[in-house]
Amino acid sequence: MHPWHEVGDGVFVRRYPFLDQTIGAVVGLERVLVIDTRATRLQARELIRDLRQLTQLPWVAANTHAHFDHAGGVDDDWKNVYLHKDDFFDGPYFKIPARAKEINFKTIQWGKFEFEILHTPGHTLGSICLFEREKGVLISGDTLFADGIGRTDLGGDEKLMVKSLFRLRKLGWRVLCPGHGETCENRC
Ligand SMILES: [Zn+2]
Repeated sequence: MHPWHEVGDGVFVRRYPFLDQTIGAVVGLERVLVIDTRATRLQARELIRDLRQLTQLPWVAANTHAHFDHAGGVDDDWKNVYLHKDDFFDGPYFKIPARAKEINFKTIQWGKFEFEILHTPGHTLGSICLFEREKGVLISGDTLFADGIGRTDLGGDEKLMVKSLFRLRKLGWRVLCPGHGETCENRC
């Protein structure tokens, strides 16, 4: 058995000991969508190698925000890396991938999935979550964890965080895949 854990039909997570990170991967028909790319190049390369245990498909990365532990591992020549436009500045603990592109779409159609891109500022100004409404899968980055919420003292904003959390609460998600720690399943 490989150490990826399937939380939804084709949605996988894998935990790494460094900062107890949890990385998501959504296997589509032609490509695999990787959520966050880890802190160092070595770690990111390990992640891409680990993905090969799931699929040989080419990958595209969406970073939930620009903190170094989520976006820092990207090599300068990686082209298919996306980040929300509000995180393209020199914020604290930020590491913006050299060739990152702005997420300027509202949904990602991925094989049988349709992920809504939710702009959920608070942890950082450009934090995003991805939500698959039909399957109730919420990939929440550092905005929402199984046991709490993301810090707002690392370049974030408390008022925006509260607003974003209210928005997430209304979604009625069933599976939560945060950027660190445990996933949370079967909540309706
Ligand atoms: Zn963060």
